[in-house]
Amino acid sequence: MALSQVVGRLIGVRERMVDPGGGGAPRVPRPVAAVVVGGGIAGMSAAVVLAERGVDVTVLEAAPTLGGRLGAWPEALADGTQMNEHGFHAFFRQYYNWRSILRRVDPRLGFLRPVPGYPVLSERWPTEEFGRLPPAPPMNLLALLARSPSVRLADLRAMDRDAALPLLTYDPARTYAEFDDTTADELLSSLKLPDRARAMLFEVFSHSFFNHEAEMSAAEMIAQFHFYLLGNPEGLAFDCPDEDYATAIWQPLTRYVEKHGGRVVTGVAATRLDRGPDGWRVTAADGTSYRAGQVVLAVDPPALAALVAASPGLIAAAPRLVARMPAFGQAGPPYAVARYWMDGDVRADRAVFSGVSRQPTLDSVTLYHRLEDESRRWAQRTGGSVVELHAYACDEGVPADELAERMRLELCRLWPEAADLRVRELRARVEAQAPAFTPGSHAGRPGVRTDADGLFLAGDGIRTDFPSALMERSAATGIIAANHILRTAGARAEPVRSVRPRGLLAWRR
Ligand SMILES: Cc1cc2nc3c(=O)[nH]c(=O)nc-3n(C[C@H](O)[C@H](O)[C@H](O)COP(=O)(O)OP(=O)(O)OC[C@H]3O[C@@H](n4cnc5c(N)ncnc54)[C@H](O)[C@@H]3O)c2cc1C
Repeated sequence: MALSQVVGRLIGVRERMVDPGGGGAPRVPRPVAAVVVGGGIAGMSAAVVLAERGVDVTVLEAAPTLGGRLGAWPEALADGTQMNEHGFHAFFRQYYNWRSILRRVDPRLGFLRPVPGYPVLSERWPTEEFGRLPPAPPMNLLALLARSPSVRLADLRAMDRDAALPLLTYDPARTYAEFDDTTADELLSSLKLPDRARAMLFEVFSHSFFNHEAEMSAAEMIAQFHFYLLGNPEGLAFDCPDEDYATAIWQPLTRYVEKHGGRVVTGVAATRLDRGPDGWRVTAADGTSYRAGQVVLAVDPPALAALVAASPGLIAAAPRLVARMPAFGQAGPPYAVARYWMDGDVRADRAVFSGVSRQPTLDSVTLYHRLEDESRRWAQRTGGSVVELHAYACDEGVPADELAERMRLELCRLWPEAADLRVRELRARVEAQAPAFTPGSHAGRPGVRTDADGLFLAGDGIRTDFPSALMERSAATGIIAANHILRTAGARAEPVRSVRPRGLLAWRR
């Protein structure tokens, strides 16, 4: 254990049990059937836990492949087939619930490899490194302030320390009560940070949540600052699979669910949900009906709103859920992912993953040929490189290829040698499926339980009462949905974990 983690433990920065689980039979004592709609992280996490306890679970996934926003699929290139993915993902070490699901198929998580460093690139300022900070607070924060050229002592003196206090005093109820109506942009402006510190330390961070700062709740940003930096003992370092997500995650998890008696059906969209006297009926696009006493809707926010709107019976069965959908179903801004297969490589000292600050479009760069085995082999065979560029919150209505080209040109300004690489293949997408965390949205954010018996929600837009985000929130809400079903049936629930529940200085307010 690192020194900072020992110090952190002394002040309560450690993994916490949110729900110890347990409490019932190892398997459901009588038959229970469940349908999980959506085969992303949330849906498959629910399915894993339900199948283990003997629930007769069926996962319905609309796409031909599992994984949703962590999906992977074969892509035909001119010189053979390569796997492509929905986009690079950082598996942070405080993702306790997601990691516990992944341990089912790889108990030592051997497929996750540490990604060295976490540099932030900028055209105006020198690169700043975040990956090598001490893992736990407060030493990580002190080291950041001491080392970062973006913050000098004079800057700290000029900063509005009262305005900064909320970042250190996160509280799951009070933070939202006080800051949910403020935008992240207003909060950052109130800190009176020098422009460089704001760009290099805060903006890169807030962009990673797929929302524009001017449209994102300040409370949500404070919560994420706590979850990723100031409330967890694992630090900002992260790991990534050394193979594509289908091979490393989705195929093994499918086999695991099937081994426990569950079914995973891909290429079948749920189109309607009805409540009858003997339970739920999920109708699929191919006309098949799936009946079950328990349903978990683990789809992205726009898909959830569409499914609820296409299910008129829910107006009587789940009126609160129906009322929340128009606001919840509005996705955040579009995001763009462009994977380039290029001739030639960038400089050897370029990092596997880099955040990007203050480019109009580009937010991150990943060198896949230095990360995943298949891309590595392709690059060795061709002398090329596989480079993925992301924009996390772009303008509406810009085609994917245009966004890809804008990102490539912005990369060339940061890494001039990239201009010499000839593009062999490009696969570019623009999508809008991420939850919006608009100011004032917290009170209406649905939780896992709905107002209908046997109907639950899971996903990264669903509310939790403990710190969580992105992949980890999807896994945690999936497990919580399964726990509700298991407890009702008298079966043992699964533990749920999180980080320190409040900020280091929460007692001061
Ligand atoms: C480019 C990119 C980079 C990211 N990077 C990170 C990162 O570094 N770290 C991190 O923690 N998170 C990251 N995320 C976020 C992460 O991908 C999501 O938080 C997570 O995958 C969401 O999982 P989910 O199961 O909640 O939803 P989804 O993945 O959206 O899954 C929902 C599933 O439901 C299916 N579906 C929809 N409608 C229906 C229907 N009617 N019937 C049946 N199925 C349906 C969809 O096809 C989909 O498979 C990133 C996301 C993107 C897009």
